[in-house]
Amino acid sequence: MYPALFHPQVYETDVLPRTIWSEGVALPVPNRLGTSIRTEVAVIGGGYAGLSAALHLARDYGIEAVVLDAAPIGWGASARNGGFVTLPAAKASAEEIIARYGEADAYGFFRSQADAIELVRRLLSEERIEAEPQGDATYDVAHAPSAVAGLQRTAEIYRHRFGLDAAFLGRWAFDQIGHGGTEQHGALRLRGGFGLNPLKFLLGLEAAARRHGAVVHADSPVLSWAKDRGRHILETPDGQVSARSVIVATNSYTPDDLQPALANRTIPALSNIVVTRPLTEDELAAEGWRTVCPVANTRSLLFYYRLLPDRRFLFGARGGTSGSPREDKAMRAWLERRLGEVFPSWKGIETTHFWNGLVCLTARRTPAIGRLPSDPTVLYGFGWHGNGVNTAPWAGQVLAHAVAMRSGGMLDLPAPYRGLPMNLFAPSVRKLALKAAYLWYGLTERS
Ligand SMILES: Cc1cc2nc3c(=O)[nH]c(=O)nc-3n(C[C@H](O)[C@H](O)[C@H](O)COP(=O)(O)OP(=O)(O)OC[C@H]3O[C@@H](n4cnc5c(N)ncnc54)[C@H](O)[C@@H]3O)c2cc1C
Repeated sequence: MYPALFHPQVYETDVLPRTIWSEGVALPVPNRLGTSIRTEVAVIGGGYAGLSAALHLARDYGIEAVVLDAAPIGWGASARNGGFVTLPAAKASAEEIIARYGEADAYGFFRSQADAIELVRRLLSEERIEAEPQGDATYDVAHAPSAVAGLQRTAEIYRHRFGLDAAFLGRWAFDQIGHGGTEQHGALRLRGGFGLNPLKFLLGLEAAARRHGAVVHADSPVLSWAKDRGRHILETPDGQVSARSVIVATNSYTPDDLQPALANRTIPALSNIVVTRPLTEDELAAEGWRTVCPVANTRSLLFYYRLLPDRRFLFGARGGTSGSPREDKAMRAWLERRLGEVFPSWKGIETTHFWNGLVCLTARRTPAIGRLPSDPTVLYGFGWHGNGVNTAPWAGQVLAHAVAMRSGGMLDLPAPYRGLPMNLFAPSVRKLALKAAYLWYGLTERS
C-alpha cells in the first residue's frame, strides 16, 4: 500500500518505532473502521496535518470529519521526529525563494512559517496538551568557517526583510549560551522556536480532535478511491467512507496508487536519530553545553541535536537510501561516530535508542498545499522538508478553512506553497533524484 521506495521494514505498520518518546506511553487502541459511513470530510492520514485538519473542522466550523490512518496513531513521522518547532519547511534557501517567487511571496511564506510556530504554542495551551515545551529559540550553527558568511546573510534577510526575530551570534557569543565542540563557528538565533515531545503533541492533537467531535479510525488503510454521484468513496479493508470532500495528509508515506494526480510528486528521504543515556553535569560542561534550545547545523545533510529534559542527548541526520536492517546498523554506528567527532569528549558514550523514518521532499524544494485542479473537492498538503512539526498542523488548519469556505477556488497562499510540484514519472526516478542530491551534497561539502 505504501510506496515501495525503501526496504519493507520502513513500512511495517505493526512494528511501532522504538523511540525515546514511546517509553512508557500507552498508544490509543486502534479503532478499525468496520462499517460503511457517510461524512462531510474524509481525511487520509492521522499525523499532525490530518489530525489538525479534523480538529479545526470540528472545533472551528462544526464540520464532520473522519480521519483514516493505515497504521496505529503513533506510528508515522509525527510520532518519531526530533521535536524541533522551527522554520522553514523548505530546502530552497531564503535567497533562492526571494529570487524565484519575489519579495512579497517570500515574505508571506516566511511569515506563515512563523505563524505556524505560534499555532503549535496556541494548540498546546488551548487544548491543554502537555508536550514538554523547551526553550525560546532555535539555533542554526555554522559547522565550518566557510559557512559563517551565508548564515550572517540569512540572519540579515530574516530580520530586515521578513521581520523575524533573528540574529547572528559569533563563535564566542554562542559559546556563552549554546555549546562548544569542533563544529561551532557562530550561530543564527531565531527566537520563537522551541523543542517539544512530538508523540505527546500528536496524542494530544488526536484527543482534542475527538473531544471536539471528529472521528478517528486507525489501522484503516485507504485501499481504493472512487467517485460516485459527486461523493468520494474510500474503501478500507473492513469498511467504506463516503464523503463530500477529501483531505490527503499522507506526506512522505503517500502511496503512489492512492490518487493519480499526486503520484510521483513526493520524494521521501530517511532521517535517523540516536539518543544517549542521560549525561552528567560534568559531561555537559566538558563540551560547554548550556542550552535547552534545539540546534541544527549548516551541513547540507544537516546534523540536528538537542538536550532532552532528562539530560539525554538527541543527535540526528538525514541519510541512507534503503532503510534495511543492515543499513540501519551502519547508520547508527555512523551517527555515534559523528557525535563523538562533533563533541569529542562524548566519544564512545552509550546510545540507548536508534530509530528512523521518512521526511518528505519535493523537486522544487518547497512544500505544497492546495486543491487538485482536476477536482477541487480534493485537498492536499505535503513536502515539509523535515520541518513539519509546525507546518503540518498549520497546513491542517489552512485546509480546514478552505473546506469551510466551500468556494472551490484557489487557496490564498504565498507562491512557494502553490500548485503541485513536478511529477517525477516513476518511483525509480524519485529514488535516483534522492541519490543524486546526496552525491551532490557530499561533493560540495568535501570541496
Ligand atoms: C526521524 C525524523 C525526525 C524529524 N524531525 C523533525 C523535527 O525535529 N522537526 C520538524 O519540524 N519535523 C521533523 N520531522 C518531519 C516531521 O515529523 C513530519 O514533517 C511531520 O510529522 C509530517 O506530518 P504529516 O501529518 O504530514 O505526516 P505523517 O505524520 O507522516 O502522517 C501521515 C500518515 O498517513 C498515513 N497513510 C499513508 N497512506 C495511507 C493510506 N492509504 N490510508 C490511510 N493512511 C495512510 C500514514 O500511516 C501516516 O501515519 C522529522 C521526521 C523524521 C522521520
